[in-house]
Amino acid sequence: MKGNAKYYNELRGYIEELPIIDCHDHSDVCKPKYIDPVQVVVNGYFTSDIQSASSDRDIQIINDYSLSLEERWPVLKKAWDRTCYTGYAKVTKLVLKKFYNEEDLTLEALKRMKNKLLDLENEKTFKKILDEARIAARIENITEIDYRQIADRSYKLSPYARLTIPLPAYHAVTSYEAVERIASPLGRRITSLDEYIDLCFDIFKAYKDYGAVAFKDQSAYQRSLAYGNPVKAGAEKIFNRFMEDPRRIESYPDGIRPLDDYLFHEFMRMARDLKLPVQIHTGHMAGIRNDIVKTNAVNLTGIIELHRDVRFDLFHANWPYSGELLYLCKNYPNVSIDFCWANIIDPVYCQNMIKQAISSVPHGKIHGYGSDFVGAADRAWAHSVIARDNIAIALSDLVEMEYLTAADAKKIAFDLLFNNANEFFNLKIKV
Ligand SMILES: [Zn+2]
Repeated sequence: MKGNAKYYNELRGYIEELPIIDCHDHSDVCKPKYIDPVQVVVNGYFTSDIQSASSDRDIQIINDYSLSLEERWPVLKKAWDRTCYTGYAKVTKLVLKKFYNEEDLTLEALKRMKNKLLDLENEKTFKKILDEARIAARIENITEIDYRQIADRSYKLSPYARLTIPLPAYHAVTSYEAVERIASPLGRRITSLDEYIDLCFDIFKAYKDYGAVAFKDQSAYQRSLAYGNPVKAGAEKIFNRFMEDPRRIESYPDGIRPLDDYLFHEFMRMARDLKLPVQIHTGHMAGIRNDIVKTNAVNLTGIIELHRDVRFDLFHANWPYSGELLYLCKNYPNVSIDFCWANIIDPVYCQNMIKQAISSVPHGKIHGYGSDFVGAADRAWAHSVIARDNIAIALSDLVEMEYLTAADAKKIAFDLLFNNANEFFNLKIKV
């Protein structure tokens, strides 16, 4: 992409050289080792656009690697032709050009790619790509971790990773078995809600001692962000019910709502005491066919008002509700805007919102980039290109309007891509 402003080229050149902090990602290990050219094209979030442009049946055919390229190509081409201009498609195009030297998606291109598929299980290759993207640190959200590896500090991180504490499973407990799964690695037997809360604090403390830099919660995939503030007795009643009869399994979220809400508030108190920020998924969700209303960041108003000593990093630019997030960030000192993932969900939305954010909220509260893939350093690289483009376009437009000076634009770019997150997550990276 390219901006229209006279200052665009110079600013983009400056931004290209900046180190960046990847504010949100899910790379537990280096992966994948690609086994099929279509896997390079239809992967990560782009699968959703392809599905949205075709059908559930077609996406199965496209992803069936036992079929030949010739068999899958007509189905893929039809969907590609209907969705090749989205932000996700741009990621695929950048990957095709950079790593396979292919300008267009054709059957011939796919055949040529067959023998040079990237092996991203190779840590050296993976890290080299991150280095090309100048990624200095990555805030990683890994949900499947054996607690014992955190406690004895043997857990191995992917390159440049800084860990977050994955919250949802700790407050979405629906059964005795769910509690036991959390408690057993510590060799504890839980018999009351108080004991469970103590257990959670000990786990979170161990994560912090390991080096975790934030909490992370993505419960909005399953439940509304409108947390109530129930009394402890309501939470205890539900907890005691399934604990005294291990055969009882409650539904989520409706069956345990007061417990879920109560624990979430308890965990916010722990975040305050551990002095760690809380990253929360807001806005658009991965996959298709989910309910967007429940994920609007404005649902968090009560949480933000009450927990004033907790710093919240609200994700994905709350796409498509930019106005609500700008409001929250402007009005609450403990709210930051995080553009992770959003830069590829909707590049033009981000260009506009960055401009609006500069003119409405303190720019020191904006985090400009987060790749949000699982592995896939190739796509994280492409995502970083789009994020740099978006920021350069937004800021150079503001220079053209004489809203900012050229020097202001450079300073803001550095803050959005590096300084703000370095300070917010207390990463202490020197450049
Ligand atoms: Zn994510």
